[in-house]
Amino acid sequence: MSLRERRENTLEMGTPYDILVEENIAGLLYLENDIISYANPSFIDVVKSSAAEVIGSSIFDWIEGACFLALKEGLEKIYLGEKEEFSKNLGLKGSDNVFFSLHLRAVKREEGKTMMVGASRNSTKRVTRKIQFYKEQSRYRSLFENTIAGIMIYNYDREEVVECNKAALDLMGYKDNSEIQGKSRFEFVPETSEYFPGVKMHRETDKHGTKIKNGISFNTSGSFLTKEGNSFLVQASVTPTFQEYGEGFIIFHDVTSEILNKKANKEIEKQHRDIFNNSNDAIIYVDINTKKSVLCNDNALNLLEVKNLEGLESKTLADSLHKESLEGMEAEEFIDYHIAKALKDGRNKTSFWIEKKDGELRRIDCLLIRSLSNPKNPKIIIFLIDITYMYNAQTTLNEKNEELKKYIDSNMQLENFAYLASHDLQTPLRSIISFTQLLEKRLGHKLNYETKEYMDFIIDSGKNMKDLIYDLLSYSRVNTEKINLDIIDVQELIQKVQLELSFDIENKSAIIDVDINVKKINADWNKMKQVFQNLFMNAIKFARKNVIPHVQLKAEEKKDYWEFSIKDNGIGIEKEYQEKIFLLFKRLNRQTDYDGTGIGLAMVKKIIEQHSGTIWVESEYGKGSTFFFTIKK
Ligand code: ADP
Repeated sequence: MSLRERRENTLEMGTPYDILVEENIAGLLYLENDIISYANPSFIDVVKSSAAEVIGSSIFDWIEGACFLALKEGLEKIYLGEKEEFSKNLGLKGSDNVFFSLHLRAVKREEGKTMMVGASRNSTKRVTRKIQFYKEQSRYRSLFENTIAGIMIYNYDREEVVECNKAALDLMGYKDNSEIQGKSRFEFVPETSEYFPGVKMHRETDKHGTKIKNGISFNTSGSFLTKEGNSFLVQASVTPTFQEYGEGFIIFHDVTSEILNKKANKEIEKQHRDIFNNSNDAIIYVDINTKKSVLCNDNALNLLEVKNLEGLESKTLADSLHKESLEGMEAEEFIDYHIAKALKDGRNKTSFWIEKKDGELRRIDCLLIRSLSNPKNPKIIIFLIDITYMYNAQTTLNEKNEELKKYIDSNMQLENFAYLASHDLQTPLRSIISFTQLLEKRLGHKLNYETKEYMDFIIDSGKNMKDLIYDLLSYSRVNTEKINLDIIDVQELIQKVQLELSFDIENKSAIIDVDINVKKINADWNKMKQVFQNLFMNAIKFARKNVIPHVQLKAEEKKDYWEFSIKDNGIGIEKEYQEKIFLLFKRLNRQTDYDGTGIGLAMVKKIIEQHSGTIWVESEYGKGSTFFFTIKK
């Protein structure tokens, strides 16, 4: 019988209630205690059986074991009158994952029996969906709990924190959710942040709220405050939860150190760029693979006379090289060779001339360094250092040194010559003087006045020449004899000098005052004796007429040296001659007034300089002079 025929039959036979029950798309049943005394076709469909098997069976016969207890407890409460209703999703016995929902309601109680009506419908899909939902929810829950990103669920409508995961609590310094739940964003977003100068943070987060309310996800960065009030930088993805109006997930990371590092790196990068741009050197980066310059500073453009980087390929450098400085190679070959060497050894140095367009030559020191910034694509940094000025100075210096060497050589030869000549001149001169004296003695009575005067003149000149040769010999010995440093007793030295000069001192009735507290100096005894002898001698010799020479020797202790001074009350020296008197043969007076050779002070100066000291004079013309010299301690 078809459904329509059955319906028509029933309509003919039964009451409208019967039809309503029989034809209801919901499964309906009547229970007496747990026994099904009636079930409509829909219920029989739900339990996938037949009327014969269902009517008279226990409701428990159709329930899957796991749901048994739930139904039992539910029915018992109805039997006991504690509850009027039972409603649950129950698993269908014998079928995996097939569910039906059962709603029972007590309608009548007789002794020992409770009658219930029930409705049921297949709930497999819904239950499966629900199970899936729960499963998924627990999966998401675990994700939410355990992810290392901070996640905050924030409701922009109610302006409150709904929940935070562990990472978010940790980042923000809260122990658990109870401490932060219910707080508004104004409590954990600072109004301003030093990291976002000029940005009103609250106003920014207002916009976030609007987006979330409109179901829009977005990424943002900003600043959060910890519970302690310290701000930190966050990068966040914000997305609506779609669970509640205005509710969003804020998934965030603390990027403070990252941003600060980036900032520091930018600063360093800027400094490097400054150095690069302001360096005195011309710097060029050459990509080895393409052989092209990928970076250069202004100095490189200027040196190679190109407008910009495009104009500057390694070929331009090759073009600028002056051919004669390339060790016999072609320019390009020369550059390739030195780049290859730098690639192999890490660094390489060479130098060459660059010829400017106007023909000017610049001397260049070239340093090639292998850059390791990207090992797969090595680059060579070429530093071109214009050393033309230094090179020229060096060349001039070398030339001057060569000249000086020659001069010293010839001077040495001259001094050698002076030494040899004066040494060898001594004997013949001595013969001239003594033979003239002998001749004068033998012929004395026969000589007329004039001839005798000539002879005296020869003898005097010979004596002068003897002195001159003696002094010249002493002077040239200062150089030829090596300085022999020793600890010498100054007092003893001075006494010896005074003794040797005693004839001259007495002769001139000179007064000598020695006031020195220095005892020992490190010097050459013989040479220092010559110094004191000469200075004392001059102080006595250059006395004013009718003035008794008064000489004072003093020594003053300075930090690193002794400063000796020999003061006299003699004729003094005019200002313009005070430096010149130290030159060889420089004399200020006529031989007839003051005898001498003009060698003494030149020799004294040489000796003092050999001892790393200095000598100078302070003098007032007509009153006296003070000679100073220093000797290193
Ligand atoms: P010399 O004494 O043989 O002439 P020196 O080289 O010792 O040669 O001195 C050079 C010149 O310096 C002297 O001729 C003299 O004119 C001047 N001179 C040196 N010492 C004194 C002094 N104490 N007072 C004045 N003039 C001096």
